[in-house]
Amino acid sequence: MTRIAILGSTGSIGTQTLDICRRHPDRFRVTALTARGSREKLFAQLREFRPEMAGLTEGIRPEEIPDDLRGIRWVQGPETLSTVAREAEADQVLVSVVGIAGLESVLAALEAGKQVLLANKEALVTGGQLVTDLARTKGKLLLPVDSEHSAIFQCLQAAGENRPEELLLTASGGPFRTWDKERIRHATREEALRHPNWNMGAKITVDSASMFNKGLEIMEARWLFDMPEDRIKVVVHPESIVHSAVVFRDGAVLAQLGMPDMRVPIAYAMSWPERIETGVKPADLIQLGKLTFEKPDAEKFPALQLARQCLRAGGAACTVFNGANEAAVAAFLRGEIAFGEITERVKRALDRLSGLTANTLEEIQEADSLARQV
Ligand code: MG
Repeated sequence: MTRIAILGSTGSIGTQTLDICRRHPDRFRVTALTARGSREKLFAQLREFRPEMAGLTEGIRPEEIPDDLRGIRWVQGPETLSTVAREAEADQVLVSVVGIAGLESVLAALEAGKQVLLANKEALVTGGQLVTDLARTKGKLLLPVDSEHSAIFQCLQAAGENRPEELLLTASGGPFRTWDKERIRHATREEALRHPNWNMGAKITVDSASMFNKGLEIMEARWLFDMPEDRIKVVVHPESIVHSAVVFRDGAVLAQLGMPDMRVPIAYAMSWPERIETGVKPADLIQLGKLTFEKPDAEKFPALQLARQCLRAGGAACTVFNGANEAAVAAFLRGEIAFGEITERVKRALDRLSGLTANTLEEIQEADSLARQV
């Protein structure tokens, strides 16, 4: 029996992870669940899965906990994620919270010797060196849940000791792939939230529309697979069937294909190196007929080049890129800035905050907070 703690259980990844647990009750036991503020949803999950530990990062007063859930150990407030990551009786900790909040919990889970299933890209984007050093020291592999990185991980499993020459990260191109630059600049909230293939949370959906998500994924891949940025290529693939690919020196390109359904990468991380039933139908290639690929448009989507510049600059540049983007996306979702201003704000933060270092958790948090202020 694998014991799993889920940080961010009421979000898109969290609920789909519970779906896998529900399908395999003889294989997975849920021992901890946390949410940010979705109380009713969390209560329902706690009643179904009966873990020993529960947490709400936005906090809950003791008298607000329903009578039938008082036997559970409750953690609340800002320390929730790292406390649960460290103290839950779990073999695996799935970190599926959004944002830099994931960094501390990934470090806490690794420190406690637990297997991390990584659905939070910001931990590697902001603390790549710190996290990968600690994972190496603890002899733990970081198991990717992000669909592209899971695809690369799956391809590498078939490669034995052979190192890849290049990684090909696929990108759907988002809802604005065929729009011109001016129209993208003034896109509305509703337009940005209309992703063609994937059903995800609001922050990542906006990031897909701006392609900041792909920029963050280049950074994530750099650390997960120890690959320099110039050997991580982005290929636009609007159908989202090829989830990513790996190029070898003999000319072979291995890719992983499947319907766009996160339960496949989630289950692979949970059951690795085995494969288990997920409820997802295999991609029907005859039905699909054809798949298309194109070059990303660097003019319309400057986030990709910006991300590469940050990786080359090193220090806290990736942390600033991420923090400024998180703050700018939040402002966009509140209706305060135009879509096109997201990139401008991130550029401004990078210009003003060059030369910061990111060697410790404190330095990373400081750089993140300065970026948000700008
Ligand atoms: Mg992804």
